[in-house]
Amino acid sequence: MSESTHFKGHSRVLKVCHWCAKKQEPEAKPFQACSRCKEVIYCSKECQVASWPLHKTPCKLSAGANAAMSKNPVAAQGIANFKKWHGLHVGALRHAAICAFNLGHNPTALEDGVLFVEVKLKSDHKDFHLKRKYEPTGGFTLTMKETHEMLGNMGGAAILDSIKEANLHMRRKGALGVATLLLKAHDMVDIVKIILASPASVRQEQEADNWGQFWFENLRLAVELD
Ligand SMILES: [Zn+2]
Ligand SMILES: [Zn+2]
Repeated sequence: MSESTHFKGHSRVLKVCHWCAKKQEPEAKPFQACSRCKEVIYCSKECQVASWPLHKTPCKLSAGANAAMSKNPVAAQGIANFKKWHGLHVGALRHAAICAFNLGHNPTALEDGVLFVEVKLKSDHKDFHLKRKYEPTGGFTLTMKETHEMLGNMGGAAILDSIKEANLHMRRKGALGVATLLLKAHDMVDIVKIILASPASVRQEQEADNWGQFWFENLRLAVELD
């Protein structure tokens, strides 16, 4: 399988350990990717082992999708570009989730739902750098029940369980938890989990620039400007 048919998850795009979030230093030995899905990277064997109970389900889903897509390089390239695009806008997406769920003031709302954002390739996308190829066309919050219905035939229950586990785990480490976004581009759907640091830092981030109920309009602007 060629490299272009491997979808790179956030940890690979941003070059941070999928478990401890340590950043890959440019001069140091490259972090190793998960050999099954090739989507995430780890700074050490220890981090990979610690991550496995949580990574198991998404890993299986990604590995299956990778295998299916390896037979269709054009579709694979489209998915790879989409993943790279949202990886480049992870800051704006995180901020949208914080404001949409008012997490600065109501941290437990994280468990209530998922942020759904639909994007499309711009008609003149060929003229733009990868970072500007897509534009958000719609967005709303989904309850866990609605998320389950939406993901039914994609292993919805397993995905919701992995969200719950990831939240519990991050909270034990002192973080606020993990924001989950469902990103849709044409016939591609990607589930993106973004770690939110301490409740205080999230409150500070929201208060510095509160998008409030206009989170979607602000997100549209942010992905054009950030
Ligand atoms: Zn690590
Ligand atoms: Zn994996």
